[in-house]
Amino acid sequence: MLTRREEIVQLLTERESSLQAIANHFRTDLKEILEDVQHVEQTIRPKKLMRKPAACKSCGFPFKERNRIKTPSKCPRCRKEWIQPALFRIE
Ligand SMILES: [Zn+2]
Repeated sequence: MLTRREEIVQLLTERESSLQAIANHFRTDLKEILEDVQHVEQTIRPKKLMRKPAACKSCGFPFKERNRIKTPSKCPRCRKEWIQPALFRIE
């Protein structure tokens, strides 16, 4: 039986995923998953946690990583609400 953190490692090794998708998968809070992922990042060396920052799907505007928990709801450039959340992957 794997711990949730071990499962997250497995999941992110297989495919890239957003924190929200992981939270949905485990039916838990985004905040808990964020803590898990931060812990995982310290323990997977020499592997690395890769981050693709959130971006606007419409115009490609890249969001800064300032707020890693919540995906911004609106693009400041084109004002569309079609945002790709930050994606994580272990390589
Ligand atoms: Zn945009």
